[in-house]
Amino acid sequence: MAAMEKHLQDINWGKLTFSITPTRSMYEAHCEIDGEWEEGKLVPYGNISMSPAAGVLNYGQGIFEGMKAYRTAKDRIVLFRPEKNALRAATSAERVCIPPVRIEMFMDALEKIVRDNIDYVPPQGKGSLYLRPVIWGTGPILGVAPAPSYTFLIYVSPVGPYFKSGVKCLNLRITNQFHRAAPKGTGGHKVIGNYAASLFPQRMVKKAGFDEAIYLNAANEKFIEEVGSANLFAIKDNVLMTPSIDGSILPGVTRDSVLAIARELLHMEVRERSISIKDFLNADEVFCSGTAVVVTPVGKITTNNTSTTINNNKMGPITMKIRKILLGIQREEIEDPFGWIYPIK
Ligand SMILES: *Cc1c(COP(=O)(O)O)cnc(C)c1O
Repeated sequence: MAAMEKHLQDINWGKLTFSITPTRSMYEAHCEIDGEWEEGKLVPYGNISMSPAAGVLNYGQGIFEGMKAYRTAKDRIVLFRPEKNALRAATSAERVCIPPVRIEMFMDALEKIVRDNIDYVPPQGKGSLYLRPVIWGTGPILGVAPAPSYTFLIYVSPVGPYFKSGVKCLNLRITNQFHRAAPKGTGGHKVIGNYAASLFPQRMVKKAGFDEAIYLNAANEKFIEEVGSANLFAIKDNVLMTPSIDGSILPGVTRDSVLAIARELLHMEVRERSISIKDFLNADEVFCSGTAVVVTPVGKITTNNTSTTINNNKMGPITMKIRKILLGIQREEIEDPFGWIYPIK
């Protein structure tokens, strides 16, 4: 356990936000288009160099993942369901013709990068070490085609809460000016271009005083899809609802965990189905979920001309229960009945 004995970095842990703090190292591996991924290695954290004609720079051939390492109540460093991220990275990669990284290689890379930067994992309760795996087409290509070579990188950063204001209810705007994802498009994968497309709508709603935009389904704008980087849930009469995974919804690891907690620990009825705008605004409780936001309540939702307040703009009792259980499992404060915790040795 030599790694665990390293003294913590001299960082003002209480002041962390969701932003980049440089760390010791990053993980890097390479692959040719028709080859196998070579064994990766740790390199000092810092800028990278590539051709201006790199596929990722010109045509957005890239995917990413997001996960957190926590220092827990048992004084261990753990990841949360990392195999799910490994699998999702592989399916995202295949969608944009990137050679997928094998699950075992991905897991080995996660362990290496966390171990080498273990002194950057915040003390218990002060945040987490955010892990950002990316896989990019880094070889030069002029015409629109898969790049000749690829880079798999993981960089990490200690982070505090995603929302500066702490767990406050979100004030969201349903947009019908923009779509996040189309049926049969790339919305179901963590493909980098999806997020560039969300910047302008996000800026518009933020200027108008909202925290984020809610996107509707592209086909007929009748149903709720998700927020730019988090899944949405509604609770009505003790039934938990969330849009089903149909190609334009990102299959969140947190989403899946929330469903399991509600179904198996809270014995709630859980429905994965289309949610109309009307049903959504009629909900008793609304919240969003994601690695960055964990479980965050939604207190106000605005459509074209009307605003609806949900649960008096307060976190609802079921949302609170789900959040508590999820955080409790992640921090090893309560038993993990699902086998979700992955300790770093
Ligand atoms: C990453 C992401 C989520 C949340 O996924 P988690 O695995 O729970 O972090 C939700 N929606 C979108 C669009 C995302 O990119």
